[in-house]
Amino acid sequence: MLLSGLCRHRRHVYHFFCFLLCTVFFNTAAASAAKHIPSLDNYFKETLNTRSGLPHNTINAITQTPDGYMWFGTWEGVARYNGREFRIFDRNPQTGLPDVGVRTFHLDKHNVLWIGGARGGLVKVQDGQWQAFPPFGELINRLFMDNQDRLWVATEGQGLYMQDATGKRTHFTLDDGLPSLQIHSLQQDANGLLWVGTANGLVYLDAQLQIQPVAADEFNGVPIFALELNHQAALLVGTERGLYLAQPSQSKPLTLLDNVPVSAILQENSDILWIGTIDRGLLRLHNGITESLDMRQGLPNNRILALLKDKEGNLWVGTNGGIFRLRDAPFNTMTTEVGLAGNYTRALLSHSNGCMYVGSSRGLTRICNGAFSIIDLTAVSVGQSVLSLAEGPDQTVLVGTYADGLIELQYDQIRRHYDTGNGLPANEVRAILPLGNGQMWVGTSNGVSLIKDDGILSLGVADGLPSSFVVSLFQTPDQRIFIGTGNGVAVYENEQLRTLNIAAYDDAHYAFGMTYDAPVNILWITTDRGLMAYHLASNDIQIIGRAQGMPFDKIFELVQDQQGSFWISSNRGILRLNRSHALALLAGKRSSLSVELYGESDGMISSQANGGSAKAGALHHDGSVWFATSMGVTRVQPERLQQFAEIAPPVVIEKVHVDGQALPLGSPVNLIAGSNRLEISYAGLGFVMSGRIQYRTKLVGFDRDWVARGTAITAEYTNLPPGEYRFLVSASYPDGEWSKQEAVYTFTLLPHLWQRWWFKFAIILLLTTLSIIAVRWRMSSLRHTEQRLRKLVAEQTTELQLLARQDALTGLANRRAFDEELQHEYQRAQRNNTTLCLALIDVDHFKRVNDQLSHAVGDEVLKRLAEVLKQQCRTVDMLARWGGEEFVVLLPDTSLQDASEVCERLRHKVEKLNFTDLAADLHITISIGLTTNNKLELPQLLVSADKALYNAKKLGRNRLALADNTR
Ligand code: GH3
Ligand code: MG
Ligand code: MG
Repeated sequence: MLLSGLCRHRRHVYHFFCFLLCTVFFNTAAASAAKHIPSLDNYFKETLNTRSGLPHNTINAITQTPDGYMWFGTWEGVARYNGREFRIFDRNPQTGLPDVGVRTFHLDKHNVLWIGGARGGLVKVQDGQWQAFPPFGELINRLFMDNQDRLWVATEGQGLYMQDATGKRTHFTLDDGLPSLQIHSLQQDANGLLWVGTANGLVYLDAQLQIQPVAADEFNGVPIFALELNHQAALLVGTERGLYLAQPSQSKPLTLLDNVPVSAILQENSDILWIGTIDRGLLRLHNGITESLDMRQGLPNNRILALLKDKEGNLWVGTNGGIFRLRDAPFNTMTTEVGLAGNYTRALLSHSNGCMYVGSSRGLTRICNGAFSIIDLTAVSVGQSVLSLAEGPDQTVLVGTYADGLIELQYDQIRRHYDTGNGLPANEVRAILPLGNGQMWVGTSNGVSLIKDDGILSLGVADGLPSSFVVSLFQTPDQRIFIGTGNGVAVYENEQLRTLNIAAYDDAHYAFGMTYDAPVNILWITTDRGLMAYHLASNDIQIIGRAQGMPFDKIFELVQDQQGSFWISSNRGILRLNRSHALALLAGKRSSLSVELYGESDGMISSQANGGSAKAGALHHDGSVWFATSMGVTRVQPERLQQFAEIAPPVVIEKVHVDGQALPLGSPVNLIAGSNRLEISYAGLGFVMSGRIQYRTKLVGFDRDWVARGTAITAEYTNLPPGEYRFLVSASYPDGEWSKQEAVYTFTLLPHLWQRWWFKFAIILLLTTLSIIAVRWRMSSLRHTEQRLRKLVAEQTTELQLLARQDALTGLANRRAFDEELQHEYQRAQRNNTTLCLALIDVDHFKRVNDQLSHAVGDEVLKRLAEVLKQQCRTVDMLARWGGEEFVVLLPDTSLQDASEVCERLRHKVEKLNFTDLAADLHITISIGLTTNNKLELPQLLVSADKALYNAKKLGRNRLALADNTR
């Protein structure tokens, strides 16, 4: 079976990923339950070494902590892996390691990681905190925490130590019964006995901590490198000479591997046991069969130091040449290493006999149940370069070649052969379409032929074929033949060729492949401009190209899987497209597509698939989808991919930066006021498809909903307002579940002084106070203004009042003022019985002044007269302008005699006045009429004075005349 198939093709020298079935053992203990065990071929193998970021290529120890991180112990420190990058922990104050050399890990039942290494360094890591213990002074080979929380420390040359929970140490040496001071391995069994593997045999410590020897010869005088419990808690013992299962009931152990130096043991489950060896690579023991993997098949080094199966089922192998990883990848690729005739594959045929036929540039391979056989075509095809494949009637296999026409095989025998010699238009056969009626269409580089019982009908460009280069052929249920060429599609119907104008759709030329989709009656055509949907009922064409979300133009072959996805090959990898999404897009219910692109990190050796010959992809009977590529044939099991998606990778927060400054990861944290740019980096700790892990985040206090992050591993926030926040992140594989346990980072962004409530309150208080002060000030200022205005008004009123009593031209009292004064003085004089005199003065011939010298000179003269009169009057006298050029003088308490003298003086002074500055010959005189209150009532007083004045005028002017009552 597989063994023979594999070993037959070991003539290929460059063994790369070949798994050999080497030694067969019978394993009575592991009578296996019939369970599906993935073939070693299904694993995707990868090496991580110093080029990938490891500090050293010797991987002494491997573990996975419950948070999901992978840890590797090397001679240059601890490397922690998140699926994308390594973080190195070396000798520094944080780790407390006395030396960078790390030899062993032990993850105890409390999830504490113990690290032991060079110079006896012992450190424990718990919740991200490193705590160092006093070094033991000798390399620690192994650490083990027993069920009583006692830590056992195996050293390279100082025997065994026990450290209890208080840190107290007990030392076990040769004197205590150790066969050697060099201890390699430790294990506690179900009965609580602690087994100690030394360089010189196996011993155990009993309940009294007494070292007891073991009787079996297999375990004495030999180095015991590995001790492990199997699924039944029985002790597996790896020695320099083989692997054994200790049988408590019998003194003789069961030999599982003879003459193999065993360095590491991993019991995967009841069926599978992985064994690391000192110099022979990795072995898998399963159902009594041992499979081996060594440097010839890609293992970086044959010395295995550590083995670990992670939570997702990936196997990690620590070697002297780096980490070797057997990953449960979505794709696995078969090459000449496992038995293909050639690596440049072009055509596939999933045959009704259950086998897959693979056509390559170097021949035809048949793969039946994992067994590869090469079918010899050399009788008619020296080069055996296969371009196309199809299954004919009676399970025949039709093989189109590059240079030798068409070969029909039955039971691996060549039954018929068509080439240019017997009627084919060319020997390059790219597509074959056998019909139910025994006829067969053949697409060649020079047109298409229909092979019938009675001959061959060939059609070319002259017959209406859009191009002679035929790459695909398809018969639809309505019996139409679709012919895909390098320049469009032709349809053969009723013995007529008709051309489909696919160039109308984004200038498509090549129709590489065709697949019928019965439920929707669509023929899917893969072209050099994307995917075309040909609706067979309506003959309408729709295109799904770059504009609709296809990552590139040229697609080769579409295969529909049993889960409802389209798998489409291309030069850049294999696309997965949800069929219902594609149909929704055609129906106008979706605007764009999302596709996943699989390539080299997913298990393809080369992401470059081949196309242009039929069929370049195939759905196999087991549900797997196969594609021809430029490096082997690649296969995906969609069912398994779905299983991957069901695992939600755990997620951790790895880095928090605020304005470029790293923050501690423990939360909650207070961020200083004004913190602007916050970056949080996280990692989904899944190792099946690390690069495909999707993230979503939610900043509670800022985001209302989850924010899809795609594969981005950093969330960034700027200008967050002050407040309390909780950052959540969860992860998933594509189309998978979100991790239920989100990683959380809690922080408070502190407010600035002015953003604090009490500060705002104080400001409001201050503003209110200021407002009150301002209002008050304003009020008082208004009051002041009012007072000032009142005063002003009062003053102006007084002034106005004053003005109302004053003559504007001369400044003397006016007639109104004089009237009041007169009344006042008259009554006083009457009361006191005193004499009151009144003189009325009129300027003589004043009209002439105005007429001869102008009115302005007249005014000036009046002003000067008023001034002189004022000077000459006594202070007790009241002088007023009576009107025009007339003045009046009231002389209270004055005798007529005195009054006459005053008047004469006035008249005299005026007469003497010099007006030459106004006019050379200007002389002014006045006439005065004087009266007293003698025998006169007030109203007659003025009349009396006026009469006297009239007399003065009549008597010649410039004189004083006394009133009648004065005599
Ligand atoms: P008589 O000697 O008879 O008084 O002769 P008279 O020219 O003064 O005659 P009368 O008293 O009738 O005329 C008064 C004149 O005084 C009339 C008017 O033109 C002039 N006059 C009255 N008030 C003013 C004034 O305020 N300014 C000036 N320039 N002339 C005035
Ligand atoms: Mg007059
Ligand atoms: Mg006059």
